[in-house]
Amino acid sequence: MAAGAVVPAALAGWLLWQAVGDGGDGGSDGRGASAGASAPASEEPSRAPEAEPSEAEPPKKPSPGASGPLAGKTVVVDPGHNPGNRDHTAEINRQVDVGTHRKECDTTGTASDDGYAEAEFTLDVAHRLRDLLEERGATVKLTQDGDRPFGPCVDERARIGNEAKADAAVSVHADGSTAAGHRGFHVILPAAVRGGGADTRPIIADSRRLGERIAGKLVRRTGSAPSNYIGDGTGLDVRDDLGGLNLSTVPKVFVECGNMRDAEDAALLKDAGWRQKAALGMADGITLHLRG
Ligand code: ZN
Repeated sequence: MAAGAVVPAALAGWLLWQAVGDGGDGGSDGRGASAGASAPASEEPSRAPEAEPSEAEPPKKPSPGASGPLAGKTVVVDPGHNPGNRDHTAEINRQVDVGTHRKECDTTGTASDDGYAEAEFTLDVAHRLRDLLEERGATVKLTQDGDRPFGPCVDERARIGNEAKADAAVSVHADGSTAAGHRGFHVILPAAVRGGGADTRPIIADSRRLGERIAGKLVRRTGSAPSNYIGDGTGLDVRDDLGGLNLSTVPKVFVECGNMRDAEDAALLKDAGWRQKAALGMADGITLHLRG
């Protein structure tokens, strides 16, 4: 990797984390940066029902049941935000119930200083991740595919993963920390929350395993270091304020792939080759998790 993304302090923490293995820290909580939450939803019909396809509608793709390490597994990929959100502020500012509290339906997301929008980034990476997972035999559902004017709202994003009974759900984001020099990726894990329609306790352990594996594989595939400003070098954070996590009943994490407001990170995020590596890291982490 040309980009020398390694930050000594963070790497030291990372190596320590690797040595400790799973035990390490549970993620610092709370301080999240900007990211909007996300969760699932989309209007596309879900995967093929058991019924035979009618003659009029030949199946578009080889059916699930395909071969590969992820055959029989369902993964929901949630591209954070939506490029159209900026034109629908009233709609996305509507408050929705996320169990523990109410918050905005969705957010616009961040952008690089020269205007590369997080929502464009997330959709691109989601497509790459979908393709990789499908090649490995998984059934993949996106919560949105640029096919709706805004959103979906975070509660709907969560519901899509739940209704798909996803074996894993991953929400793709990039951060927007404005402090100079803030770099690196982090994976956000659900905190234990309970309230209203939210109860993450059953998914805590599995989500952590999923997140740890994605973090490890992201380092391996991209060569980028974990965040130097969240997670104490572990690349992991824990939050209790994201509706897309709080309302999930399936193992789910958010991946903040880098900091769009940092020029060096932004250069990576804008690079298609790097995005493919990031998608590979996520696909590898998911594959390891679901096969393990
Ligand atoms: Zn975001």
